[in-house]
Amino acid sequence: MRRHTVETPAVIRNLGILAHVDAGKTTLTERVLYATGATHRRGEVHHGTTVTDFDAQERDRGITIFAAAVSCAWAGHRINLIDTPGHVDFSDEVERSLRVLDGAVAVFDGVAGVEPQSESVWRRATAHGVPRVAFVNKLDRAGADLDTAVASIRDRLRVTPLVAQLPIGREHAFTGVVDLLRMRALTWDGDTPGEGPVPDGLLAEARRRRRLLEETVAELHPGALEEFCAEPEISAGTLAAALRDLTRSGDGVVVLCGSAYRNRGVEPLLDAVVGYLPSPLDVPPVRGERAADPAAPLAALAFKVSSTATGRLTFLRLYAGTLRKGDTVLDAGAGRTERVARILRVQADRHTEVDRAVAGDIVAVSGPKAARPGATLCAPESPLLLEPPSTAEPVVSVAVEPRRSTDAGRLAAALARLADEDPSLTVRTDPETGQTLLSGLGELHLEVAVERVRREQGLTVAVGSPRVALRETVVRGVSGVPYRHVKQDGGAGQFAHVVLDVEPAEGTGFAFASTVTGGRVPREYVRAVAEGCRDALAEGPIGGHPVTGLRVTLTDGATHVRDSSELAFRAAGRFGLRAALGACAMALLEPVAEVTVTVPEDAAGGVLGDLAARRGKITGMAARPDAVVITATVPLAEVFGYATHLRSRSQGRGTFSARAAGYAPAPGTPAPR
Ligand code: GDP
Repeated sequence: MRRHTVETPAVIRNLGILAHVDAGKTTLTERVLYATGATHRRGEVHHGTTVTDFDAQERDRGITIFAAAVSCAWAGHRINLIDTPGHVDFSDEVERSLRVLDGAVAVFDGVAGVEPQSESVWRRATAHGVPRVAFVNKLDRAGADLDTAVASIRDRLRVTPLVAQLPIGREHAFTGVVDLLRMRALTWDGDTPGEGPVPDGLLAEARRRRRLLEETVAELHPGALEEFCAEPEISAGTLAAALRDLTRSGDGVVVLCGSAYRNRGVEPLLDAVVGYLPSPLDVPPVRGERAADPAAPLAALAFKVSSTATGRLTFLRLYAGTLRKGDTVLDAGAGRTERVARILRVQADRHTEVDRAVAGDIVAVSGPKAARPGATLCAPESPLLLEPPSTAEPVVSVAVEPRRSTDAGRLAAALARLADEDPSLTVRTDPETGQTLLSGLGELHLEVAVERVRREQGLTVAVGSPRVALRETVVRGVSGVPYRHVKQDGGAGQFAHVVLDVEPAEGTGFAFASTVTGGRVPREYVRAVAEGCRDALAEGPIGGHPVTGLRVTLTDGATHVRDSSELAFRAAGRFGLRAALGACAMALLEPVAEVTVTVPEDAAGGVLGDLAARRGKITGMAARPDAVVITATVPLAEVFGYATHLRSRSQGRGTFSARAAGYAPAPGTPAPR
């Protein structure tokens, strides 16, 4: 099937739906696809038939894990919906999605309002400069209240809400909304929206709220202020234009409401996406990028790789140029060319083939065999490297073993494929035990990965208990440590002499400098020394853990006319730093997590005790109407299994989230020598 191809980036909206787990993202996505005609049946999350969560495991867990990009059409625009995982253990996927989005809908639960996890995703969207529209969902639920949710948006997210709708009816009697811009009532009877005058009983309240919206907008927007002062009211057109400007500048956030489950409020939300959120042309070119011009040379970012039964699909965000079927593209980072065999627009779990795609668009391609998430694919004659999305380092490992030893090869291949799709997963062999170690960002991250292998390969695997990845750091440095690398065995010899200083440098992974003067060590050899030092960081002197947080300076050295080489200096750097580290006072570091626990007040004391017993440091406590939110920094090793523990301790009323938050000194550090 061939489809009409959009040729101008102006009609594209690259949209994400950001939400706390359970706020209704999956249901809303499903309703969007239904409303836009991309699907013809409504899936229900409870029945496990939704379209974006097409991975069986996601269906079972009921959480959205794998970012699926789905295209649909609304009011002459193409909406590319990028699914973002709601669970913080998958923060890397969220980062990769945020990198390619131009705008987002933030979904909040109409009963719970802004939850701690929504706060952290919100802040990261702000950091990425992604404009947002807020959707207060579940207004049909008992206890749901738009005003309370709006207050939590104002207080917890510190933004100015621009409330553009008034709900009609409460809880189970919630039937629609008043569009305050046009002062029209939108009601849903079954699935079809109807439009009519504002009901008499709501007219006074709707007028009051429209006035409130006008005042708020006038305060923030000079154009609207002018009309506010000169006219009895601001026109719908001026208000809409001002809302669009304020959304894009981030000075305010439009708030809409509805019930995804009851299919109420979805169409006006889509109108807001098209009307207020930016197109690829409206967002400034990202560093080093070309403008979103279809005629420019191609520049595209691979943000997701997905291996399916039909082969390997690479999801691309096109920043510039036009990609055509059959094109040869350069993977700029790897310096390798790949051929784009097919360009696919993904519609839920189906694909439609297209001949080309233009700047600003998001498509999947088949053909590229090796491009990884984060890779730049560009025109070979016009190479360019886009800034890759940040990747967090794996901090937790588990040993994975097949039940039948004959399955070892299949298991290794399956794990390697997972790691290929997800740069925050790594697979290696423990040199001491020979076991296969899978490393990732958190307990759940690894559980989900192993579960995928079990299902997709039908493998029975045994999984060890999770272990954290320790690091070593320099507490007290050394200076003037000499190292002479000399080898004389027949032919050409090797000679390199280096003198190194090592200092602690907290917050830096590894910094290297040279103060050698008089050309005593030529520049290319200095580079080789730096490389050698980097090699030495793989295994620290305490327990063979990676070393971080240090500055190394090459202060002196010597060469030999015949026997010096880059190889010799690299070896000198490696063994020289190893010797120097052995003389430093070193300390062990362990990963820590930023933990948020929300519990009813009567359970708070118990949780504080738990966290203290787990070596946690409480960083904050906030009272909410129905709960207490406790934040703490806890060693990641102590967080394992805590979600289960909390559930039983709070009779299922507590929620818990953990996010890797760097490294802190660990107990068991040997005393400085
Ligand atoms: P996600 O975790 O954010 O993807 O949330 P889901 O879409 O899976 O929804 C979580 C639960 O809330 C499911 O049981 C949904 O049926 C339910 N839900 C979603 N939207 C609504 C809504 O508007 N009203 C009500 N009452 N329930 C909803």
